[in-house]
Amino acid sequence: MTATMNSRNAARMKATDRTIRRINIPTDGEGKSLKISDYYAENVFDYRKSDMIPQEVKIELKAYTASHSAGKSLSKEHAEVVAKAVGTWAMRRGATHFCHWFQPLTGSTAEKHDSFLSFSKDDLPIVKLGASALLQGEPDASSFPNGGSRSTFEARGYTSWDLSSPLFLREGENGKTLCIPTAFISYTGDALDIKTPHLRSITALDKAATKFMKVIGKTDTEHVYSNCGCEQEYFLIDKAMYILRPDLVMTGRTLFGSLTSRNQQLSDHYFGTVPERVLAFMQELDYKLHRLGIPSKTRHNEVAPGQYELAPIFEDSNLAADHNQLLMAVIKKVAEKHNFVGILHEKPFAGVNGSGKHLNWSMSDNTGHNLLEPGQNPQDNYRFLAMVSCVVEAVKRNSKALRMAIASHGNDHRLGANEAPPSIISVYLGETLDKIYDAILEGKDFVPSNDKFLESGAGQLAHLLKDNTDRNRTSPFAFTGNKFEFRAVGSSQAVGFPSTILNAAMSEVLNEATVLVESYMKDGKSTDEALLELIRHYMGRSNDVVFGGDGYSSEWVVEAKKRGLPNLRTTPDALGVLKDSKLTSFLTEQGIFRGDELETRYNVAMENYCMLREIEFQTLVSMVNQNVLSAGLDYKLRLAQIITAGKSNGLESSVETDIYKRINMIIENLYDSSRELDRALEALDEDIEKRANALANNLLPLSEKVADNCNALEEMVPDDLWQLPKYYDMLFLR
Ligand code: ADP
Ligand code: MG
Repeated sequence: MTATMNSRNAARMKATDRTIRRINIPTDGEGKSLKISDYYAENVFDYRKSDMIPQEVKIELKAYTASHSAGKSLSKEHAEVVAKAVGTWAMRRGATHFCHWFQPLTGSTAEKHDSFLSFSKDDLPIVKLGASALLQGEPDASSFPNGGSRSTFEARGYTSWDLSSPLFLREGENGKTLCIPTAFISYTGDALDIKTPHLRSITALDKAATKFMKVIGKTDTEHVYSNCGCEQEYFLIDKAMYILRPDLVMTGRTLFGSLTSRNQQLSDHYFGTVPERVLAFMQELDYKLHRLGIPSKTRHNEVAPGQYELAPIFEDSNLAADHNQLLMAVIKKVAEKHNFVGILHEKPFAGVNGSGKHLNWSMSDNTGHNLLEPGQNPQDNYRFLAMVSCVVEAVKRNSKALRMAIASHGNDHRLGANEAPPSIISVYLGETLDKIYDAILEGKDFVPSNDKFLESGAGQLAHLLKDNTDRNRTSPFAFTGNKFEFRAVGSSQAVGFPSTILNAAMSEVLNEATVLVESYMKDGKSTDEALLELIRHYMGRSNDVVFGGDGYSSEWVVEAKKRGLPNLRTTPDALGVLKDSKLTSFLTEQGIFRGDELETRYNVAMENYCMLREIEFQTLVSMVNQNVLSAGLDYKLRLAQIITAGKSNGLESSVETDIYKRINMIIENLYDSSRELDRALEALDEDIEKRANALANNLLPLSEKVADNCNALEEMVPDDLWQLPKYYDMLFLR
């Protein structure tokens, strides 16, 4: 018995393989390191550089490679030319296959590979990429979630080339694959993916915002783009430790685990020196990302031990969404090479900070003007203030939909927990903007440091805002200088969806704002007066969604309720929004979601939620049976032997007996609670809504009770009897 115990423990102790892999940082052949710009986007097809594509086709491509012209496609003839150039480029670099790369509703990406192999008329093997292969694919869609929107016999799905996102090469151990970013639609034309509605929302926002800008006097605006920069948080865990934790492998999070006395109290990890082994990983990661044309910019330690962050330079939303999907995959792949596992789950360790993905969002026009930039000129300030008031209105109107957009089983552990923005969606503007809007609403001048503000020194606005925003880290939706930061997004989420909801909410308000401003001007108001009127109109009705206090506090929950702000606590609650036509009219009326696409999403997300929660709870029960109880019983046996030995020697063993009793009690509680969880799993209703609600409201708390008992046991059982890696092993050993 002792031998097996020791070997179990030995497995845990042996688990850290801390070899630092060293990548070959590329050099110029004489040993000098290359500059990033020397290999940046090396794995991306740039039609501009191709000498196989004639100028007229390049002009056409240029027009289509902006996501606001989504849905446009090349003529067959031109597509043939491009396909040939792309194929040649890819094969020259060692690609053997190509794939349509798309984002089904699973939230991750999917790809089906085809080789370039073909046969000539004389039956000789040749390699080529034809136009039809480039333009359209037909993956069997039946195995992707479709939320019951199609029956199996018509389960064909089509992938269609998205010209606005460049083709790229993915490197594998044994060759490269050409990836063609595509949209994924059903036989009936319904979107089966995240990208299609996202592109529609980008187009809608472009139209609405361009019109608005023109009406308010910025006549050189021809297009408005939605921009997005995603700060990505993740954990790195030693692979050998990871493998010994079935919960991490099966569910992406530890279902229990006792906190060490240290953890993050010392806050010494945040921005601390990156450990050497982790740095080696980050260097290879950046190298891979840069070669893929992903503009990775910032890397650092995050708050929790073992937690890190990566932020790229912002891009057009569609590209940023694709790049974030790719980035998550590359994190996992590179981590693996360094004997780490990259964990993207929102809450891998209870009691330790979770991971989010701050979605930094702004709008800019073809002249390079950021619509959320406070600017230096007074008229820009009015435009800016009006634009921000439109954002506030958009959030206020659609706060439930925005909450829905970030709903996931993983994120439920973050939202409302004591470290992440709450599930109540509010907007933080910062003190300066709050005061300016208050002054406007009260019809007074805003006076910063003895200066009349709106009339005179308007150029200071930009300066003032820099100092005033981003002080509050507890807001789920914060203005930070010249962009909004949607902080409640989960770390593992595809950002295309929250970005879609944001764009759609904004374009609806901008369409309305255009009509309002036009009507004010018809009444004889100047542009500035009309903008002020618009600001008064929106801030007057929506100011109560603005909150500058501590979003983590319990007072805010009470206050928000008083203000009538919704608080959708669980994923099933939040997903209910998709079934409420009043709450989704801004999506359907603008054609962002069509037909039964929302219902499809509801069904897929609910099924997903239930499935993932059920896997968690089943895993928990089986770990209790296979690992935790057995460790407790081993300890009981050891204690019993000590007590018996003591007795036979005539010794008093009150301490051992006391421990024995306590262990026994925990084991009983653990057994009872896990049996109860098991029975509750068995008794789950067939109906998806009832099932999801039971999982969220009954089984989740029950599972936490089981976890508490596991933790109590972990704290009592001697280290050599505990087979599962502890938080200490996973978070502190590198
Ligand atoms: P923080 O203070 O949050 O770290 P940063 O300036 O470092 O702010 O930016 C964080 C993220 O926001 C980066 O990904 C960055 O590219 C992005 N970002 C910066 N400006 C904009 C903008 N105008 N629109 C969208 N994203 C932006
Ligand atoms: Mg940030």
